[in-house]
Amino acid sequence: PLRLAQRVTSLKPSPTLTINAKAKHLKAQGVDLANLSAGEPDFDTPEHIKEAAVKAIRDGFTKYTPVGGIPELKEAVIARLAEDYAVTYRPEQILVSTGGKQALYNIAQALLDPGDEVIIPVPYWVSYPPIVELAGGVPRYLETRAEAGFDIDPAALEALVGPRTRAIILNSPSNPTGCVYSRATLAAVARVAAAHGLVVISDDIYDRIRFDGRPPENILSVAPDLADRVVLVNGVSKTYAMTGWRIGYMAGPEALVKAATRVQGQSTSNPNSIAQMAALAALTGPQECVDRMTAAFRERRDFITRRLNALPGVTCPEPMGAFYAFADLSAYHGARAGDRAIGDSLAMTDYLLDEARIASVPGVAFGDDRFVRFSYASDLATLEAALARLEAALGRLT
Ligand code: PLP
Repeated sequence: PLRLAQRVTSLKPSPTLTINAKAKHLKAQGVDLANLSAGEPDFDTPEHIKEAAVKAIRDGFTKYTPVGGIPELKEAVIARLAEDYAVTYRPEQILVSTGGKQALYNIAQALLDPGDEVIIPVPYWVSYPPIVELAGGVPRYLETRAEAGFDIDPAALEALVGPRTRAIILNSPSNPTGCVYSRATLAAVARVAAAHGLVVISDDIYDRIRFDGRPPENILSVAPDLADRVVLVNGVSKTYAMTGWRIGYMAGPEALVKAATRVQGQSTSNPNSIAQMAALAALTGPQECVDRMTAAFRERRDFITRRLNALPGVTCPEPMGAFYAFADLSAYHGARAGDRAIGDSLAMTDYLLDEARIASVPGVAFGDDRFVRFSYASDLATLEAALARLEAALGRLT
């Protein structure tokens, strides 16, 4: 048999992308299925953004661009970060990549030597551990408690820091929990990071999708003096319903960004030229579309959390942002339907797919087997029908 590299032997496919593909396949076959597994807005990309891409094609903007992105887009990123976070960056501190995911990948490649540790709060986005591991790094998991709103305990964080700890990843609003860190938590993390010389990787991809009406916030909002060790990651996928366009970016210390740019220059080169023009239109154009989509997510959030919490044995902390409901269904672990036993979150999501025609993601993918993640980036009618089927399916478990 063909021998593959060690680094891929334990590399698993992204569970969310796999389930989403399976759900899309079933739907294409005509199965009436609620796909609540996807990490993407159901809305179409706004028209003015699409037009910018069409214009880019017509204008022949179809060649290589600078590796790190076109200057206009870097300036637009700088302007957006200045407005949202009152931070000042120079173009040398910005790298535009093929999605926020590639930004994170480049950071790990630029930052980590084999054996270097990265602290990842649990529950975590599915791709953080493999991104760290592919760079030779070692994830160190920081447990949190659902009852405490998945908040970071600064003492627990500090206890996890060792001589090889290089960085911590923050994601607020969070995928999968929807939790938003308080300013006090961010300040406490900043103190630990400063005391131990940690780099803070702040994944702000959901920063504009929050439901408390407050402006975006990250660790630099409370600790601007930490800018020389904070790298911000963001993108247009979630905010502007542009998941397929693949544009994300980072902003951070120049040495790190330059190194990450070299990684990108020797792997994928520039992000797609046409999508860069679309992202430029997204960042500089009218922002009402963001408010409109966020208002819709909020209405759905209200609906789904109310309905989930009304189900016997189900608890779902109220998400403050993003578009995921992370529900504790562990009260059903050990239950049966006929000869089918529900032993864990994976068995639960399989059961829901077969018996409730709901595609969802097992909590084990995010590091907490008690939970199931339901994306509510679907219209209310779909959510209503799905919740009715969920209720019936759970009711059949004994
Ligand atoms: N970070 C988090 C927490 C996410 O949920 C995602 C997408 O699912 C990303 C980053 C990356 O998104 P993209 O690569 O589309 O910019």
